[in-house]
Amino acid sequence: ATHLVWFRNDLRVNDNLALAAACRDPHARVVGIFLATPEQWQQHDMSPRQAEFIWQHLQCLHAALAARGIELHIHQLNDFADCVEYLKSFCETQKVDALFYNYQYELNERKRDAVVEKTLDVDVVCQGFDDSVLLPPGSVTTGNHEMYKVFTPFSRAFIKRLHEGLPECVAPPKARSAALPDNEKLTPFDYPRQPVDANLFPIGEQQAINQLRQFCRQPVADYGEQRDFPSVDGTSRLSAYLAIGVLSPRQCLHRLLKEHPQALDGDAGAIWLNELIWREFYRHLLVAYPKLCRHQPFIPWTDNVSWQQDEQQFIAWQQGQTGYPIVDAAMRQLNTTGWMHNRLRMVVASFLVKDLLIDWRQGERYFMSQLIDGDLAANNGGWQWAASTGTDAAPYFRIFNPTTQGERFDKKGEFIRQWLPELGIVPDQYIHTPWIWAEKQQLTLDYPHPIVEHKQARIATLAAYEVARKPE
Ligand code: FAD
Repeated sequence: ATHLVWFRNDLRVNDNLALAAACRDPHARVVGIFLATPEQWQQHDMSPRQAEFIWQHLQCLHAALAARGIELHIHQLNDFADCVEYLKSFCETQKVDALFYNYQYELNERKRDAVVEKTLDVDVVCQGFDDSVLLPPGSVTTGNHEMYKVFTPFSRAFIKRLHEGLPECVAPPKARSAALPDNEKLTPFDYPRQPVDANLFPIGEQQAINQLRQFCRQPVADYGEQRDFPSVDGTSRLSAYLAIGVLSPRQCLHRLLKEHPQALDGDAGAIWLNELIWREFYRHLLVAYPKLCRHQPFIPWTDNVSWQQDEQQFIAWQQGQTGYPIVDAAMRQLNTTGWMHNRLRMVVASFLVKDLLIDWRQGERYFMSQLIDGDLAANNGGWQWAASTGTDAAPYFRIFNPTTQGERFDKKGEFIRQWLPELGIVPDQYIHTPWIWAEKQQLTLDYPHPIVEHKQARIATLAAYEVARKPE
């Protein structure tokens, strides 16, 4: 028998449910395939940094599989529609009996998979796996068998389920034959790629595992106190690996519990576990509410907000030139590294939507185009939370003050100074309000004056949301 593993967002050999299932029969010939779809990726605004991260890990996967005697075919097509015919003919020429793949929960991906299964029909037995989540979407529901709309009861039910039984990790496959030669030079796919800083995101599955182990040893216990301060390296930075499946959430859970067995009971590590559950919440929501993949808000009335179309302000936000230091430092961190601290993602998203009154979907798109950890569920969830358009989102009248956020979470401006060298001469006391200092000193800084006045912007935004909520 020939078993085909279709790799997508699961570029790893450890704890890969589809790969493990394909390898279960020791006599089967196992072949892997990865289909690059640049036009589709463009439509989904995949960032060139994530493309590079995928490319690097694809090469690692190729080598890891070759060492186990498994060939990985890498082929470029245009979009998802092309995958269907290609897979059909591949299965015919390779005499494939069974196809194994791990589910993706986004709408276009699910539609593609449904067509693939239908097209391969009875010739190839298809098996999908809930691999990128701890618990399958649809399995954690209210008493009425509905998806939770509020996070806290979801999280409580989720932890109860984990207490009943943990999703197990599966071992990497054993070598099936002698190692295949791995000196073939792979041709990269045709998609813009941008270098990834290997100090921040070392390449390789083992590197990701090492980072997880290191984080779960001590930092995870301090996470609750440290995670909100962007100048501190207090979070795991594993999002980039989780987003493309170099690491699985099960690996995260088991490593956490190995170091902190009481994390499920609320002790050390519980706050980090809670973040992993936010990740699940947003994935489960995508499946329950496919409209979230269609650029629609969860709360319908919020679609009536009259957003401002101010291209200049949007560009100022993108480039980190708004005149609010914490916002600008964060945007420059994103533009330079492809990653942004979670606290700052909330701050800059709130600023775009609630200070500039720009449509959250513009911000969501820009984030995708820059993030190395771009993930539709988490990104959409984060933006809809900040814009007050989502399930269990911040209420619309809760508006972050960008200056006080800076003062609370980067008191001395250490993070700001790292990204805005032009504020080097500004004393700590004024680091969040450099314009006041410049005025006092009668100086001109090489840094913009705030592009909006927060108090006024806040009033205008509240009015815009209120009008939208009560259409005449
Ligand atoms: P840690 O704090 O160490 O958390 C561990 C893991 O839990 C993360 O790697 C991530 O997989 C998951 N996680 C943590 N917080 C969240 C959350 N709020 N929602 C969902 N999952 C979470 N995360 C992405 O992975 N991709 C995105 O595209 C993305 N876009 C976002 C956009 C906005 C506007 C906001 C507010 C948040 C977004 N997040 C996104 C969530 C969060 O900011 C990142 O997951 C986190 O900053 C990644 O850093 P870390 O790996 O050090 O996280």
